[in-house]
Amino acid sequence: MKITDHLKNANSTLFSFEILPPLKGQSLKELLEGIAPLMEFKPPFVDVTYHREEFIYKKHPNGLLEKVSTKKRPGTVGICAAIMNRFHVDAVPHLLCGGFTKEETENALIDLNFIGVDNVLALRGDAPKTEGRFIAEPEGHSFASELVEQIVRMNNGRYLHEETENSYHTDFCIGVAGYPEKHFEAPSMKFDLKYLKEKVDKGAEYIVTQMFFDNQKYFEFVDKVRQAGITVPIIPGIKPIATMGQITNLPRTFFLDLPDELTDELEKCKTNADVKAVGIEWSIKQCRELIDANVPSLHFYTMSKADTTYKIAKEVF
Ligand code: FAD
Repeated sequence: MKITDHLKNANSTLFSFEILPPLKGQSLKELLEGIAPLMEFKPPFVDVTYHREEFIYKKHPNGLLEKVSTKKRPGTVGICAAIMNRFHVDAVPHLLCGGFTKEETENALIDLNFIGVDNVLALRGDAPKTEGRFIAEPEGHSFASELVEQIVRMNNGRYLHEETENSYHTDFCIGVAGYPEKHFEAPSMKFDLKYLKEKVDKGAEYIVTQMFFDNQKYFEFVDKVRQAGITVPIIPGIKPIATMGQITNLPRTFFLDLPDELTDELEKCKTNADVKAVGIEWSIKQCRELIDANVPSLHFYTMSKADTTYKIAKEVF
């Protein structure tokens, strides 16, 4: 079922979450058992992230460097199939521009359509760690809006090659990312919103936000998005802080600020357990206020660790 239909049918705020495919070599069984407790809160959909290949440089005895591709978290499509089969919920794969040609994207979408996936989150992706800026594949997309356009074309039965034309058309519901604290490359919020609107004008039907820790930032973002003429649902992303490292890593990685009130509490923490307790309390407060504001769903970035999200959901749903 489409995310937009789940949202339309709901009469209160929904619970949803995102997981990461397990690291290469780890088992799917462990992942599924790990998220099973969260099914108590009846998530209508579960997002599965995608991680593009990274490159490492291997030094040979003759001094030459070899560029080698590594893929740490394969299997997004397979994990979606496993989640749908095991829990009978919708799985939403994340699709990236980065690392994909249009042809590979089309093939991935055909596979997803075959296994019964109804929704995709269309993203540009980041530059690989070894490259300073995002560079599209020679036959790939530079921005998420172009990926949205390709998916909409397939929904209209228009494929890359004539021989596939007139075959069964797909019917994906398309989500895109939004940034309450602005995407880090955008020179201003106005600029970022212009291109968010482009994604929606091209066919995106809902927005999932980057994590934020200050609800005011989300509420102000929603106001600005509405003023820009965008009317689709905006699902807030929630990330409970759980380790000492995340206190500085999250702002650095995701270009966001922690509010003073939260930082003051985190500064008193001596262990990861202390941080987790503060993170849970903060998220509960955030979630209660967002539910009162009647947001469409609380979408948790679980990083595949369900225990923290479970404790929060138990309090707020
Ligand atoms: P875009 O919408 O393409 O925007 C990228 C930048 O370009 C923005 O600054 C925008 O303002 C600007 N821009 C857009 N269009 C134009 C244009 N036509 N001309 C000039 N500038 C333009 N990453 C992963 O690798 N895997 C994941 O699974 C993943 N999941 C995510 C889920 C969510 C909910 C979010 C919020 C992010 C996720 N990301 C993921 C991270 C995302 O890939 C990065 O934030 C990436 O840098 C931007 O992706 P985007 O789709 O927002 O890009």
